[in-house]
Amino acid sequence: AAASAQRRRDHVPVFSLEVFPPKRNASVGTIYDTLDGLQGVDPDFISVTYGTGKQADRTATARICNTIRQEYDIPVIGHLTAQYLDEQGASEALEMFEQAKVRGVLALRGDAVPGREPAGVFDHASDLAAFIRRTHPDLTIYGACYPEGHPQSVSLKEDVENLRKKVDAGVSHLISQLFYDNADFLNFVQMARAEGVDVPIEAGIMPVMNVGQVRRMGKLCGARIPHALDRMLDKWQDDPRSLRAAGIVYASQQISDLVAQGVQGVHLYTMNHPGITRRIWQNVGDLFETQA
Ligand code: FAD
Repeated sequence: AAASAQRRRDHVPVFSLEVFPPKRNASVGTIYDTLDGLQGVDPDFISVTYGTGKQADRTATARICNTIRQEYDIPVIGHLTAQYLDEQGASEALEMFEQAKVRGVLALRGDAVPGREPAGVFDHASDLAAFIRRTHPDLTIYGACYPEGHPQSVSLKEDVENLRKKVDAGVSHLISQLFYDNADFLNFVQMARAEGVDVPIEAGIMPVMNVGQVRRMGKLCGARIPHALDRMLDKWQDDPRSLRAAGIVYASQQISDLVAQGVQGVHLYTMNHPGITRRIWQNVGDLFETQA
């Protein structure tokens, strides 16, 4: 914790982690396994995702935020998806976050759940950001961004224009969707700056864990798979141990290059796999230490 505080003072890039609440029918203890497994990793904050599905437990994110802050002494960001909430629902969620003493809220629209009608109050993340700014001015508002464009956008240019609206509505920090080619992220940052998006942008990195996950993410969020990664997937598709090792190297190289290129932060999607996160931190943690 001391190192991450110093890091902020010295303008060294931010390093943060994302975890998700255990599935409803899983033991709550699994989150302790994840958090205990992250001992030795020194993030500036941990963000906790918010479930949108029918089975999702609405209080889980705030409860886990509270646990991480109180029992592990790490600052937390709570995610909140809003398209199925009305103003009262959003207020209740924000109250819970305030009680959990979160450092900020990641304001999201969220994905559509088949068969469920949106409430029609928060059509975009920018609507939620504006609501938070008006009703909870002390909360720092984070937002999501998409280096390769959001899948529903006509073009990256249009998506970046919409991103500007999100920032104008009150988002003061951005965290990116995962990407596998750093050139895509760096190009996106340039476009965002040209559009007047001047807030810090953290690069989202998801380590490769198995072939299905990468192919699924490619389809779901449009993440392009570069040749080098494609080769890795082909070579070790039936050898999970080697693929995991190669995935750790790939993510570590991505992070090292991003830091060399001067990014403001890296956000690691842990997928609740602390062992992989620890090994990546062993490789790149020194890059986030303060310079003497
Ligand atoms: P928006 O910012 O509203 O964008 C959605 C689309 O609308 C884009 O095409 C955009 O260009 C367009 N748009 C945006 N604003 C406007 C506007 N003002 N006018 C017109 N068009 C506009 N999902 C979860 O369910 N739970 C999570 O915890 C979660 N965490 C995430 C964390 C990160 C870092 C990221 C990158 C994604 C996360 N997601 C999560 C997924 C996210 O919910 C989906 O990507 C969702 O489809 C979009 O949410 P958003 O907040 O980015 O939407």
